[in-house]
Amino acid sequence: MRPKEIEKDLEENVGKPATCPTGSDKDCSAAKRKKGESDQDFADRQALESRLCRIHRKIVVLSGKGGVGKSTVAVNIAVALLMAGKRVGLLDIDIHGPSIPTMMGLEGAKLQNSADGLQPVDADGLMVMSLGFMLGDADQAVIWRGPMKMGAIKQLLKDVSWGDLDYLVIDSPPGTGDEPLSVCQLIGNLDGAVVVTTPQKVAAVDVRKSITFCRQLGVPVLGVVENMSGFACPKCGEITQIFSSGGGKRIASDMGVPFLGSIPMDVAIAASGDSGRPFVRHNAASPTAEVMREIIRPLLALEPAAAAAPMNDKIENKEKANMKIVIPVVDGKLSTHFGHCERFALIDVDPKEKKIIKQDELKAPPHEPGLLPKWLAERGANMIIAGGMGQRAQALFAEHGIEVVIGAPAETPENLVNSYLAGTLQSGDNVCDH
Ligand code: ADP
Repeated sequence: MRPKEIEKDLEENVGKPATCPTGSDKDCSAAKRKKGESDQDFADRQALESRLCRIHRKIVVLSGKGGVGKSTVAVNIAVALLMAGKRVGLLDIDIHGPSIPTMMGLEGAKLQNSADGLQPVDADGLMVMSLGFMLGDADQAVIWRGPMKMGAIKQLLKDVSWGDLDYLVIDSPPGTGDEPLSVCQLIGNLDGAVVVTTPQKVAAVDVRKSITFCRQLGVPVLGVVENMSGFACPKCGEITQIFSSGGGKRIASDMGVPFLGSIPMDVAIAASGDSGRPFVRHNAASPTAEVMREIIRPLLALEPAAAAAPMNDKIENKEKANMKIVIPVVDGKLSTHFGHCERFALIDVDPKEKKIIKQDELKAPPHEPGLLPKWLAERGANMIIAGGMGQRAQALFAEHGIEVVIGAPAETPENLVNSYLAGTLQSGDNVCDH
């Protein structure tokens, strides 16, 4: 049983619309003191609401228990949204084992304070904040009593200066107890939850509990992700089912919530988590990365239609029409100097047949900041395969409906496109020349 005052607070606050930045609007929930609220609690709530209302969409990632891949899914959702050209923050509030610093390659990052509050750490454009940054020593045991936990969660939400974001993805503590409850309760107006589960029968009870938890709090369930769904052979990519699969899909259908996708157990996912190189970015051409991009489609649809247009158009275009892939070239092979290269290969591909239809070469236009995305979009391009590219440039291309796959090796354009189509393109580091 939850304490009465929490139930009451939930009734009053969860699911309310976003508030104004200053609380100056008299209808804003931050403008009015709640019954019994102390000066300190009122000031804290105003500070929290004024930060959170600058964030367009807030999505919490939940799981019925630990170890199912909740953090992995949270990282890859956040990076996939970033790759779709959105401004994204990732908040790791998993008090038992904040693993995001490791998964993002940010272990040992030092937090900076500014006049506006605690600055999130910039990981190639993704704004990251984690309880792990505050704990210092990763081996240190965290023994926090209830009120201390709540205090730490509240402080992180209140003190971090995210600025304006399109999405904040929140990696919640696992389970359906007081800790995820506090997260949902403090944030108040969540846009929805993604529930992560695994295919074993024993996980079924937990996922049902998570969906019921969301319903009790009035948090929309955006969908269920089944992780570790079969084993992907590292040699041939064939998926072997280990546990009775399809449980996540069945439960989603039974409980009337969307099913977002199945992610196989893949050694490359475990390796990318350990090495701090987000899978969806560094293995962008793999079929599993495609599943991850599919998972964010409904999240992008949360955006007003106009803002979501480039990504949605791009996906529809890809399904309906041919793809046009651009590759910067020098001496017949991929050039890592994207912004300054003089020629581009423009390759028409039939995505259904997985074959090249036509190949042209384009002479680059005169170098002019901001011109290339428009220029390439006018020539029908909807994908770039590059050695590297800055995050801002990727966002500009995304705005023009052009997806960017980075980290490709200096190979011929035909080889690169054929490996991309076969799902075997090996992406390395983002060799950004800026
Ligand atoms: P949780 O947040 O639910 O505790 P994590 O995301 O930390 O789980 O994942 C636990 C471990 O399993 C990590 O080492 C992670 O790299 C690994 N892992 C998660 N999903 C997969 C997957 N689909 N394939 C292989 N390893 C995975």
